[in-house]
Amino acid sequence: MSKATHLDLPIRFGTVGSPASSPANKGSIGGIMRMRELNLSALELAWVQSVRVSDETCAAIKAAGEEYNIALSVHAPYYINLNAETEEMWQAGRERLLAAARAGSKAGATDIIFHPGSYMKKLPTEAFAIATVRLREVAATVQKEKLGVTLRPETMGKSASLGTLEDAVLWSKEFENVLPCVDFAHLHARAGDGTFNTYAEFTEALNTVKAGLGERGIKHMHIHFSGIAYTAKGEKNHLNLADADINYKDLFKALADAGAAGRVLSETPNMEEDAVLMQSTYQRSHKKAIK
Ligand SMILES: [Zn+2]
Repeated sequence: MSKATHLDLPIRFGTVGSPASSPANKGSIGGIMRMRELNLSALELAWVQSVRVSDETCAAIKAAGEEYNIALSVHAPYYINLNAETEEMWQAGRERLLAAARAGSKAGATDIIFHPGSYMKKLPTEAFAIATVRLREVAATVQKEKLGVTLRPETMGKSASLGTLEDAVLWSKEFENVLPCVDFAHLHARAGDGTFNTYAEFTEALNTVKAGLGERGIKHMHIHFSGIAYTAKGEKNHLNLADADINYKDLFKALADAGAAGRVLSETPNMEEDAVLMQSTYQRSHKKAIK
């Protein structure tokens, strides 16, 4: 029997954006090559300011992803708010999200991650209702255009933001091309009091995914992870795993024990080194879980 490699694991690991150690002047393709070099197998293209990528570049990214066996996703621009106050502002955000989905599809990405927005002084339930109507239309457009991508509303780290785990699961139940992007660091920061940082709490969150979405959810996880600084109101900034209170060993144990599959993308300042650390930590827990 040949030795098990990182590609045999149910979870692929990578970074959000091409790390600084990627080959120079090669953009996303350099990031793809760097992931392969580090024995990682996923990359999220950080199109977070705007989507400005030619069809030619998209085709080259897609070819590189296939050649190096790196699973691709796209982080859509930050300036999207499903609860935008004016129709004009919503239309601008909608165009950014659709631009990410259209170009991402051409670049071989399977998942489009976006920040769902903020409450804008509305009640969370009101904001959620407005967001749901708008997301329904975008999800239908993505389907009609046959883009073949999953829209992933991200769980957010500030208590004034749309994007609790429950929000993301509810949308995913309702729309077949929507699934959560679970940012475990954000959920820890969102709590604001140091909670959401134990094996039991991580397992409870995974059970929420299982209960709401079954295999479609737990076997197709898309996870963002980092250390994180926070106040009572939530996220301040991302930290390296070694510099933060985040209980990452228990997270990877919980993922292994829950039989979760999918991708984990590192978002720490030292993103590529921490992605390697996340993968090796998970690999040990996975080995124990399948014994
Ligand atoms: Zn994000």
